[in-house]
Amino acid sequence: MVNVEQLGWTPDTVGELDHRLLSAPHVKLRSSTIGATGDIVYAVDLRINQPNVSFLSTTEMHSFEHFLLAGFQEYMPKNFISVGLMGCQTGFYLILFNEGNAERICDVYENILKDVLKADAVPYANIQQCGNYKNHSLELAQALARRVLDAKSNWRKVTI
Ligand SMILES: [Zn+2]
Repeated sequence: MVNVEQLGWTPDTVGELDHRLLSAPHVKLRSSTIGATGDIVYAVDLRINQPNVSFLSTTEMHSFEHFLLAGFQEYMPKNFISVGLMGCQTGFYLILFNEGNAERICDVYENILKDVLKADAVPYANIQQCGNYKNHSLELAQALARRVLDAKSNWRKVTI
């Protein structure tokens, strides 16, 4: 059993919650899976919009996803496995290997968002590395990063 409290998470917010109660933006531990040799895979929700209230456009999600991919790879090369879109267009699934510390994850996320604001191009937005390379907007990604950064003091507040 992983002690989620020791990692900085509020135990009763871990797992699946009634989506009507979710506030956003937030950072929330979804699950921790321990392998036979003790390695742990953590699934973290990077919720951006309040479910069933407002939605990300495909373009802003896509560009933001590229920044998250590049950023977690840069800051957590030993831990980062993957980041993916929530199909409901309200956030992202982050998968990490052997790193579940809430403060560390939030610090890296903050650094990535600050890097988005300083960027002059969307990473991997080219025909060799992306399956829809024209569907990008640096401006939308930066506006989104600004909005999420402005809410940083509430990231750990998962419910309304
Ligand atoms: Zn792409």
